[in-house]
Amino acid sequence: MPHESSLATVVLATRNPGKLAEFERLLAGAGWTLLPMPADLPPAPEDGDTYAANAEAKARAAALASGLPALADDSGIEVDALGGFPGIRSARWTDGDPPADLLLRAAALPPERRSARMRAAIALAWPDGRCVVAEGSVEGGLAAAPRGSTGFGYDVIFELPDGRTMAEVGDAEKDRIAHRGRAMRALLAALRETAG
Ligand code: IMP
Repeated sequence: MPHESSLATVVLATRNPGKLAEFERLLAGAGWTLLPMPADLPPAPEDGDTYAANAEAKARAAALASGLPALADDSGIEVDALGGFPGIRSARWTDGDPPADLLLRAAALPPERRSARMRAAIALAWPDGRCVVAEGSVEGGLAAAPRGSTGFGYDVIFELPDGRTMAEVGDAEKDRIAHRGRAMRALLAALRETAG
């Protein structure tokens, strides 16, 4: 397994601008050259049962197609009182504005039943078939209404224990406390450990 610093050039296998920005910040000090996903790469199927399986499928597809190491994530929000919904279906269950639709679904839930978490799995795959996956999560709850202007997706309705939404904390703090930053640091630690 190569050491993280020997990766040099890595394809970022996502077309989500919010995720791209986060990956670029999270990997700013890693010494890797990050390449965008090739335009002609078809989207990998997201039909796995877990975030990890979906992240791995996306990373493997991009590594095979590009001939380079590829990094991909799969993420979602889970509302406990809705049985973990939307979970790994977070990107697919709505045709509308996902935060607004989720607030509508959760409208009847009182404050004490609005606990939720955001989760991410990140996979780094090589064209020769090797793959490393790591996960991260952040606990919180659903806000009553969207608030804040940073981040993307569900950040405006995900409330931290101190009452701020993830879209009110700013990029640097989100990177420190949120699911993707935690997963990324776990992945980098796993790479260092494997390299000895
Ligand atoms: P996927 O990982 O591409 O399947 O995306 C899952 C869904 O969760 C998409 O609607 C994303 O916009 C949303 N999402 C993923 N990561 C975050 C995040 O860090 N904050 C808020 N929403 C997110």
